Order: sequence, then C-alpha cells, then structure tokens
Amino acid sequence: MDDCIFCQIVAGDIPSRTVYEDDDVLAFLDANPLAPGHTLVIPKDHHETLNDLPEDLGSEVMAALHRLTPAVEDAVDAPASTVAFNNGEAAGQEVPHVHGHIVPRFEDDGGRTIHALVS
Ligand code: C5P
Repeated sequence: MDDCIFCQIVAGDIPSRTVYEDDDVLAFLDANPLAPGHTLVIPKDHHETLNDLPEDLGSEVMAALHRLTPAVEDAVDAPASTVAFNNGEAAGQEVPHVHGHIVPRFEDDGGRTIHALVS
C-alpha cells in the first residue's frame, strides 16, 4: 500500500532501526518509544488488523514476538515487558498495518496498564 507508513518502512523508503528481519516479518524500534527498546513487530505484507491477517502469517508474527521479547528485555536490562496489539481504530490503533508492540518495563515505571501505555 503506497500510503501506508509501515509499508514504506518495509520498502526502505522511510528510515527505521531494524531489530530483526526475515522474509515475512520486520521488527524495528518505535520512532516515539514509550520506553528504551520499544520495538514494533509487523508482517511485511499489508494487512490492516489481526482480523485480516492470514493464520500462517499471524503465526510468523507471533513466533517473532516470542523470540524477540526476551532479546529486547535483555538488550535494555528490563525485568519485564508489555506485549500488545491495538487492534482497530477504536482500540487506539493509529497505523492501519498490523503491529505488535514490545514495550520493556521497569520496576520504577509506575506499573501503568496496557491501555495507558499503548494507546
Ligand atoms: O498501536 P498504534 O497504531 O497506536 O501504534 C503506532 C506506533 O507506531 C506508535 O507507537 C508510533 O510511535 C509508531 N510509529 C513509528 N514510526 C512511524 C510512525 C509511527 O514507529 N513512522
């Protein structure tokens, strides 16, 4: 999709800091991080929400989240993380291209809820 910001990141037309990449999935640092190491994991193909995502591609995204979450935590020495999708505009999804957030969490970050963090 020409007007999709994340498709432009996949194409290399908008710069991003790649954390992980394979044939189907890209992970990159969020441009406006909620915490150090805040990472977004996306399918390279354009799908607006999880509801539109083919199951096999959803599995690829989940596998990447599963591998990357502990790696991101280690990289910024975080004891925990919030891993979440805003799925649809009414849920606070601002970029209409499926993306999972990995937000490293720290003992002193106030323990805010997922909603307060990622919306
Ligand atoms: O879940 P939601 O759609 O609200 O999250 C979009 C995320 O994409 C935000 O965290 C925002 O900082 C990030 N973003 C980005 N690079 C852009 C545009 C948005 O990392 N060029």
